[in-house]
Amino acid sequence: MKKIKNEAELLNKFCDVFHVKPLLRTPFLNTEYNEVWSTDGRVFIGINPEILTKEYPKGEHPFPKLEFPCEKTITIEALNKAFNSCPMVDEEVVVEDAVECEECDGSGTVYWEYTDNHGNTHERLMDCPICNGEGEIEPCKTKKTGKKIIAEDTVVEVRNAHFFANQLRLLKTAMEYLNADTVKMTHNDPKGANEFIISKDIRIIIMPMLFDYSFSCSAKLELVD
Ligand SMILES: [Zn+2]
Repeated sequence: MKKIKNEAELLNKFCDVFHVKPLLRTPFLNTEYNEVWSTDGRVFIGINPEILTKEYPKGEHPFPKLEFPCEKTITIEALNKAFNSCPMVDEEVVVEDAVECEECDGSGTVYWEYTDNHGNTHERLMDCPICNGEGEIEPCKTKKTGKKIIAEDTVVEVRNAHFFANQLRLLKTAMEYLNADTVKMTHNDPKGANEFIISKDIRIIIMPMLFDYSFSCSAKLELVD
């Protein structure tokens, strides 16, 4: 069986080193499905361990329910076309950390006390008057990298479901990494897991965003039957 090269590079794009669940901070072998998983809880890649070379810590994590079956194909050109119509912003990196407010220890809130006409005191946790509730005296300093990236809250419609463009982009990243020109979309749930099959050994699941009218949709992905 053909192994994946630089598997760590691919897997590490999907997990979240700061995730509240320690299991999700690194890739792991999900013993329930015999798949190596890497996920931040929103986007997930599952790979047959037989095409991987490394050993992974074992864990168990339930699979999101797969509903709304469908049979559609997504091409890399269609993904590019959708991303090209998304609004772009300047990429910025933090060059100097924010200066925390010492009055409230960076929390932005302090206890206020009020004495009423009867001499009773009342306490409330409210905005810190020194930093006006910001938690910092000096905001962090950022620098533009010169690169353009897709704006954070950009939404792409994929048939029944809506995705944040930056989460859908991980699908494209994996396809490029694995030299796949197309993927099969097998489940297209507006509120639950959407499944994309890259090959018989590799699949990706993306949880959609719950679209409402406070968002506007920037692009509609074209699908092939
Ligand atoms: Zn403060």
